[in-house]
Amino acid sequence: MLITVMTGAGISTESGIPDYRGPRGLWRRDPDHEKLVTIGYYLADPEIRRRSWEFRRGNPARDAAPNGAHRALVELERAGRLDRLITQNVDGLHQRAGSDPERVLELHGNMFGVVCVGCGGRSTLDEALARLDAGEDDPACRECGGILKTTTVMFGENLPEEVVAEAVEATERAEVFVAIGTSLQVMPAASLAALAVRRGARLIVVNAEPTPYDDLAAEVIRDPIGEAVPRLVARLAG
Ligand code: ZN
Repeated sequence: MLITVMTGAGISTESGIPDYRGPRGLWRRDPDHEKLVTIGYYLADPEIRRRSWEFRRGNPARDAAPNGAHRALVELERAGRLDRLITQNVDGLHQRAGSDPERVLELHGNMFGVVCVGCGGRSTLDEALARLDAGEDDPACRECGGILKTTTVMFGENLPEEVVAEAVEATERAEVFVAIGTSLQVMPAASLAALAVRRGARLIVVNAEPTPYDDLAAEVIRDPIGEAVPRLVARLAG
């Protein structure tokens, strides 16, 4: 049985990482926050970049620890049942829990890497934040002076093509497709769930709120993710 799992913000809320887009998310309270993660504003406005770096410095995801749901998915992999782990999250918690990085497909990138928009040079968030601590408020690329950003996909940027292609392939060959903690309302997550069903996979939705794909799902689980996922994995891995 080939299982592909897709995770969204809901799997990380029990690790203390807020769901910025969710019903109680930061963006509902502070619509201005969206500018911090929109590439056009980010490139055009140094003030937005300064605020973005401050936000990154205080981001609770930096010291978050994986929870029982992340660990259960590692068990699924060790049981030889997990094909690919597609995630909309940028928090790296699947890898930190012990998932094989080769199997984790990060649709929206990763917050712990930094890239220069000028020369494409790579560095790390830790390096950039060390420069913040040393007094810089908008650190520029040391090679070319270009603007630095994290290796997350901002609004207005394209998704990483190869990652999406790999996610599509894994979805097409899945016999079971499990969507965890995602509202299935953002592309390409929504289209992957639809594709899985079209290809005959058994769709299992684990999410507190209803999703547009609940009717197509073989099973919908509303229990808290930290309890529901270990239980589900025990069943799927057995
Ligand atoms: Zn550069």
